[in-house]
Amino acid sequence: MRAPGYAPASSAEIHCGRCGHGYEAAAFHKLAPIETLEAKAVNVHVLVWPSNLRVEVRACTSCGQHLARRALDTELRLAPRAG
Ligand SMILES: [Zn+2]
Repeated sequence: MRAPGYAPASSAEIHCGRCGHGYEAAAFHKLAPIETLEAKAVNVHVLVWPSNLRVEVRACTSCGQHLARRALDTELRLAPRAG
């Protein structure tokens, strides 16, 4: 069973932990960006973490809940935050 609000990079779909809305990988990349945690930031908390893997946090369009998904460096990157 997969934890809601989190999906591995290879997963085709992620579900919001609050409202249950589902997003395929392409749809996830269109959600409003909140934050990107690069590998070295994750390594502060996780002993073993691949250097080419980051965590993208985006907002659910239905309820605003933050959703985290692992992303490889070869995948689309978040646009820089405005402001
Ligand atoms: Zn939601």
